Amino acid sequence: MLIVPEREIAGLVSEADAYDAVEAVFAAMARGEAVNFPVVREAIGHADALYGFKGGFDRAGLALGLKAGGYWPGNMGRGLTNHQSTVFLFDADTGRASAMVGGNLLTALRTAAAAAVSVRHLARPDAKVLGMVGAGHQSAFQMRAVARAHGFERVVGWNLHPEMLGRLADTAAALGLPFRAVSLEELGAEADVIVTITSSFAPTLLDAHVRPGTHLACMGTDTRGKQEVEAALLARARVFCDERAQSVSIGEAQHAVAAGLLAPEAITEIGAVVAGLAPGRRSAEEITLFDGTGVALQDLAVAARAVARARDRGLAIEVAL
Ligand code: NAD
Repeated sequence: MLIVPEREIAGLVSEADAYDAVEAVFAAMARGEAVNFPVVREAIGHADALYGFKGGFDRAGLALGLKAGGYWPGNMGRGLTNHQSTVFLFDADTGRASAMVGGNLLTALRTAAAAAVSVRHLARPDAKVLGMVGAGHQSAFQMRAVARAHGFERVVGWNLHPEMLGRLADTAAALGLPFRAVSLEELGAEADVIVTITSSFAPTLLDAHVRPGTHLACMGTDTRGKQEVEAALLARARVFCDERAQSVSIGEAQHAVAAGLLAPEAITEIGAVVAGLAPGRRSAEEITLFDGTGVALQDLAVAARAVARARDRGLAIEVAL
C-alpha cells in the first residue's frame, strides 16, 4: 500500500489537474460508468465532531474507495484545520487497500474545481464580474479556480464577518483582479457569476438580489439544514447539481424541494451537460444555479492523480500489507 501524506499534495496536484479530473468524472457519472454510494455523516458525541464517509466506484478509471473525515470545530485552537479527511483507495480487482492519501487540500481543490466546471459550462460567455459570498478557508480556492475557468475583469465580495474580507482582497490581488467589498444588494446587481461558500443555516442571498442571466455556484451547503440562498431563487433558476440524490437531501436544493418549489426531476446533473447529453444555458436571460454538494467520485479522482504522480516521482511511502 502507498501512503501519500498531506504535506506532499500541494506539489502533486494542481488546480488544472483537479479541474480535468473532476470534469472527467462528472461526465463518467452521466454515462453511467461511475457511481457514488450513499453518504454516512454522524455527530459522534465527542469533541462536537461530525464524522462520515463518502464512497464510490469509477468503473472506467477503476478508482474504488472512500473519503473518511469530517468537521472538528475545536481544531483551530490546536493549530489544525477544522475539516479533516483522508482518502482510501482499493484495488478494484482484489479489494486490497492500495493507497491512503491526505484529503484536506484535495477537498478544497476538488470543491473549487466543481464550481469552475459549472462556470465554464453554464456562465454567460460575456460574464465580467465575479461575486463572492463567503470569505472562509474555501473561498480563496473557489476564487482562484473560477477565475482560471473564465476571464473576469473584477471581483466583488460580501461576508457576514467583514474582518475576513481581507482573504478575498488578497486572493483577487494575487490574480491581478480589482476587488471591492459590497452589500448583498450591490453584489447581486453587479455580479454575472456568484459563488456562495459559507457555512450558513439560513438564506443569505435572496431571490430579489439576483438578476436575470446570472450563474450561481452554491458550494457551501453540504449537510442537512444548511442553506445559503432563498428557496424561491431555485424555483426561478434552472438548477444543476453534481448528484441529484445528494442535492435534494444535503444540498441547497433540499429546501426548495421540501417546500414543493422544485421537482427533483427538474435538476440536471452537470455531467450530462459536460458529456453533451443535456443542454446547458439556453439563453442570456436564464439564471443557472449549480448545487455543489461534493461527491466521493471527485475525491477519488483527485486522490488517484496524487497517487500516480507520487509514484512517478518517488514521493509515495510504501508499506507492506
Ligand atoms: P470556514 O469556517 O473557513 O468559513 C465559513 C464561512 O461562512 C465564512 O465566510 C463565514 O463568515 C461564513 N458564515 C458563517 N456563518 C454564517 C452565517 N450564519 N451566514 C452567512 N455566512 C456565514 O469554512 P470553509 O472551509 O470556507 O467552508 C465553507 C462551507 O463550505 C462549509 O459549510 C463547508 O462545510 C462547505 N464545504 C462544501 C464542500 C462541497 O463539496 N460542497 C466542500 C468543502 C466544504
